[in-house]
Amino acid sequence: MRPIVCIVGRPNVGKSTLFNRIVGRRIAITENKPGVTRDRIYAEAEWLNKYFILIDTGGIEPYSDDTILSQIRRQAEVAIGTADVILFVVDGLDGITASDREIANMLRKSGKKVILVCNKIDTPKTPHEIYEFYELGLGDPIVVSAGQSLGLGDLLDEVVENF
Ligand code: GDP
Ligand code: MG
Repeated sequence: MRPIVCIVGRPNVGKSTLFNRIVGRRIAITENKPGVTRDRIYAEAEWLNKYFILIDTGGIEPYSDDTILSQIRRQAEVAIGTADVILFVVDGLDGITASDREIANMLRKSGKKVILVCNKIDTPKTPHEIYEFYELGLGDPIVVSAGQSLGLGDLLDEVVENF
């Protein structure tokens, strides 16, 4: 069985962009499953010859009358239930929001391996704003720009170390 890596985070932090970047290196299979949007949320990915399944939980279809908060909670529950490694994506430009804290609390309690990914840092020099993310209690944030493809090697090195 391939290890499963789930991407979680509130809407608009860059989960799908990160997903596409990671699987874009080499897509072996993509698959639509019942109950999910036509967004591609499930793909095989590889780094340094280690293969894993990557899931973008943001693409899981919401129940029609769901609030954003309950969607986020359910996506985090899916990740906690399935993942070997969870990538918790936050927006380095926005700073910490209430939804980020909610997800962080769920993930911390789960005891799963969680990598905190601070996205949208589009410059090579790390700005001091990212230090506020230590508050989430999930260790060192890994600074990336999914948009500009920065920091992804370091992130993937850390992901595959956990297999
Ligand atoms: P999701 O809702 O978490 O899946 O977020 P998306 O991947 O759809 O991205 C939301 C918005 O953030 C889009 O407009 C992206 O182009 C933008 N975005 C994603 N990654 C980056 C990044 O690294 N830097 C910047 N500046 N924008 C980004
Ligand atoms: Mg998305």
